[in-house]
Amino acid sequence: MMTREEILHHLTAPSAANLFAEARQIRQSTKGNGIFLRGLIELSSICQRNCLYCGMRHDNPKVHRYAMQDDEIVACAALAAQLDFGTVVLQAGECERLWTRERVSTLIRRIKAETGQKVTLSLGERSEADTAEWKAAGADRYLLRFETTDRTLFNQIHPGSPQTDEHPRVAQLLRMREQGYEIGSGVMLGIPGQTLDSVVTDLLTFQTLQLDMVGLGPYLRHPETPLGQSALTSEVPVSVDFTCRCYAITRLLLPNANIPSTTALSTLDPINGRTQGLSSGANVFMPNLTPAFYREGYQIYPGKICVIAPQADSLDALKATFTTLGLHQQNG
Ligand code: SAH
Repeated sequence: MMTREEILHHLTAPSAANLFAEARQIRQSTKGNGIFLRGLIELSSICQRNCLYCGMRHDNPKVHRYAMQDDEIVACAALAAQLDFGTVVLQAGECERLWTRERVSTLIRRIKAETGQKVTLSLGERSEADTAEWKAAGADRYLLRFETTDRTLFNQIHPGSPQTDEHPRVAQLLRMREQGYEIGSGVMLGIPGQTLDSVVTDLLTFQTLQLDMVGLGPYLRHPETPLGQSALTSEVPVSVDFTCRCYAITRLLLPNANIPSTTALSTLDPINGRTQGLSSGANVFMPNLTPAFYREGYQIYPGKICVIAPQADSLDALKATFTTLGLHQQNG
């Protein structure tokens, strides 16, 4: 059991070298040297929400809006199988008209039957009936970041969110756990208005929820969003070091969790981001399998690594990083 004070100390101590070493050791004992690769497929950039931080928000007129066809999506999953990945992550802007219950069910069935890949869904806030049917169709996991446990901040940055006592995203995660999903969540680090104290609560909440997967990335300003244009700052640093401290603390709190070294971390530091991430307890990497001609439309934050530097996203470079760190790709 880690106390709030211990976590705060890990977040702010002058050096985190010991913390990172301990996290690596725990990963080694729970996961070995294998790194899971999950193929990210960004189904569409059409979104009906207006999250204040996200470049894909409905009111940003400068986004190239696209939606992939089912055959294209299944072809991306087939590529994941060919590359020996094991899992695909279907992620999209929130749009129920486009991603209907029936259409997503059909997609899940096709991907499982035609490619054998496991399916993680990341389609935002959806009803209990939708996620139940998708589970029945064969979905394995659902990824829904709660973004922050600070309800005032959450409501500020998610206009139109229900004013319930319970955090709407946490409520959905708990429902999906009951439905048999492996559940993944996480937060952004350095959101304007976010406090260090609330990050401590976020980290402890990962443990309370016993998450199977935890995705953590630095908040990156998008100039075409209200939050990106505001002068508000955060007590929480947007840095590789701070993000990696959070990976390491998460590994200590949840030794068995799957923790990706995120694209946002690689975008913040294209040279060292993923190496640092994999050296602080992360055990998952999510290469982007979205067809190149769609990727520019999915700019949740600017300069997303695969758009500006395709070579940094290459599988060979990734595997070379694994080798340098004594790690290797593992199907799962
Ligand atoms: N519509 C889906 C997918 C959203 S994109 C959903 O809401 O779950 C996936 C994640 O990207 C979000 O959960 C958020 O944590 C992150 N994200 C969005 N905008 C960002 C930004 N400006 N900087 C860093 N991360 C961002």
